[in-house]
Amino acid sequence: MRIAFIGLGNMGGGMAANLAKAGHEVRAFDLSEAALAKAEERGATRAADAAAAVEGAEAVVTMLPAGKHVAEVYRSAVFGKAPTNAILLDCSTIDVGTARQVEEEARAAGYEMVDAPVSGGIAAAEGGTLTFMVGGSADGFERARPILEQMGKAVIHAGESGAGQAAKIVNNMLLGVTMAGTCEAFVLAQKLGLDPQVFFDISSKASGQSWSMTSYCPVPGVGPETPADRGYEGGFAAQLMLKDLKLAMEAAQNAGAYTPMGGEAEELYERFVSRGGGTKDFSAIIKMIDDSWTP
Ligand code: NAD
Repeated sequence: MRIAFIGLGNMGGGMAANLAKAGHEVRAFDLSEAALAKAEERGATRAADAAAAVEGAEAVVTMLPAGKHVAEVYRSAVFGKAPTNAILLDCSTIDVGTARQVEEEARAAGYEMVDAPVSGGIAAAEGGTLTFMVGGSADGFERARPILEQMGKAVIHAGESGAGQAAKIVNNMLLGVTMAGTCEAFVLAQKLGLDPQVFFDISSKASGQSWSMTSYCPVPGVGPETPADRGYEGGFAAQLMLKDLKLAMEAAQNAGAYTPMGGEAEELYERFVSRGGGTKDFSAIIKMIDDSWTP
C-alpha cells in the first residue's frame, strides 16, 4: 500500500519503520528535519510537506503530540488533499472531544477515519508489539486492522468514534491511581517495619494485587525487572502520565463523572512533574510520596 505517515517522533519513527519493513511505500513527513532524516534511513520516502505526503495515499497514519496538532494537520493537509478512498488513522493520544470532531469533519469530507491510540511505549513501537484501541465504524475498523496489525500485537475495536481515546485515557487513569496507591502502600509497609520483598510476596498474591505491583513494581530489586531497577530511567515518563490524567479529568468533567481518585492522582503527578520529575518513569513518584525513601 502507499501509506502517508505524519509525526515521526519517539513513537511514530518506529511505527513508520515497521510499515516500511512490511513492504509498504511509506511517504513520511515531520516538522523536525532530524526525525525525517531518520525515517528516510529506515525505509520511508521523504515528503516536502504533509499535503505532499498524502497525495495518492491509500492510508494516512498520524502520530502527533496533542489534539490541536491533529486537528491542524487534518484540516490543512489531509481533507480535500488525500484521495477520499484513503482510510485515515490517528494513533496519537488526544482528547475525546477533538477526536470526535475531527472524525465528523472527515466523514463530511467523504473519508472513513478511526481513532487508534496505543498502549505500549517506545520499545513496543520499535518492536511492533503495540496494543491499539480503535474507535470508529465496523467498516473503518476492518479497513484499519491489517495496517495496525503490522505495528502491533493486539488490535481491539472499542466502539464508535472516540471510543479508542476513551478506553486509552480511562485505562491510564486507573493505572495512575493504582501506581500512586501501590507506592503509598510500600512506603507505609516500610514505616511499619515490613521488608518490601516480604510485603510484595504477600500482597502480590493477596487482594491488594494490581499490574502496578506485580508487573511494574516501583521498588528496586523487588518483583520483575522494571524502570525502578534502572534508576527510574526509560519506561513511561511521568509527564506523559500527567498528560493522560489531564485528558481523563477533562473528559470526566464533560461527561459529569465523579472521579476523586483520578483527581488525586492528577494532583500528585502535577506536583511530581513541577519538582522536575517529568522525564523520570511514572513509578518514580514513590520518591516524592516519601522523601526519606532510599531506593
Ligand atoms: P514526540 O513528541 O516524540 O513526536 C511527535 C512528533 O510530531 C514530533 O517529531 C514532532 O516534530 C511532530 N509534529 C508535531 N506537529 C507536527 C505537524 N504539524 N506536522 C508534522 N509533524 C508534527 O511524541 P511521541 O512520544 O512520539 O508521542 C506521540 C503520541 O503518542 C502522543 O500523543 C503521546 O501521548 C502518544 N503516546 C506516547 C507514548 C510514549 O511512550 N512516548 C506511549 C503511548 C502513546
